[in-house]
Amino acid sequence: MSSRTPLVAGNWKMHGSLMRNAQLVRDVVAGAASLHDVELLVCPPHVYLHSVAQLIAGNALQLGAQNLAEYEREGMFTGEILGTMLADVGCRYVIVGHSERRSLFGETSQMVAQKTRAATAAGLRPIVCVGETLAERNEGATEKVLKTQLGTVLDTVELSQLRDMVVAYEPVWAIGTGQTASPQQAQDAHALLRGQIAARDAKLADSVRILYGGSVKADNAATLFAGEDVDGGLIGGASLRAADFLAIATAAANKSRS
Ligand code: PEP
Repeated sequence: MSSRTPLVAGNWKMHGSLMRNAQLVRDVVAGAASLHDVELLVCPPHVYLHSVAQLIAGNALQLGAQNLAEYEREGMFTGEILGTMLADVGCRYVIVGHSERRSLFGETSQMVAQKTRAATAAGLRPIVCVGETLAERNEGATEKVLKTQLGTVLDTVELSQLRDMVVAYEPVWAIGTGQTASPQQAQDAHALLRGQIAARDAKLADSVRILYGGSVKADNAATLFAGEDVDGGLIGGASLRAADFLAIATAAANKSRS
């Protein structure tokens, strides 16, 4: 049994309203009360972070953001949000380098690495997303892509700053498509990523949690989480429905007890 506590993180993406968030959080908090051996996190859009922080105050549910600026100090960067601001409103985690940020907003691996450094400098735990496209998988480039994406982070940020890093393996072709990696494909990718970290720091590799993301649902979570290097999930669509999110969290909690 792994000593890593599974983490299930909900990436709400650009969804929500004050009213819908309140209902969702109330339902998740109520259902999570009976869950142990799993850490639960929600990542609402920036504008709702403060109100969600108030809704979850005093509960085990944690708060994270979906993105942050690559800068480490306040400054003239209209529209950007500094890591310390996220920490100030109650965030413990921040997602970095989601494939939608990479593909739609031009984030390069170097920017993702700088954002990871900015997150750690602000005392936030970065959830660093990596993953190959379908074309890359089909041409046999998965290993190279994952190694480059994670390698840029490991080359840029002091390893001592990465103790609280979480990695999310998210095959791009599985995000929001209803198609998932097979449990073996997920485990293989996770083992590769953990091995890459181990080559630099075995202790770090042993403690870093690696999440699977890509169409995780209530009915496939237990199988996807079964691999020994899979430490929970980053959940998009299913995190917007409390019952589904809680069922996925239960699958992760059951794994930590098995
Ligand atoms: C995601 O956006 O990180 C994600 C995994 O989305 P979905 O669960 O909807 O595929």
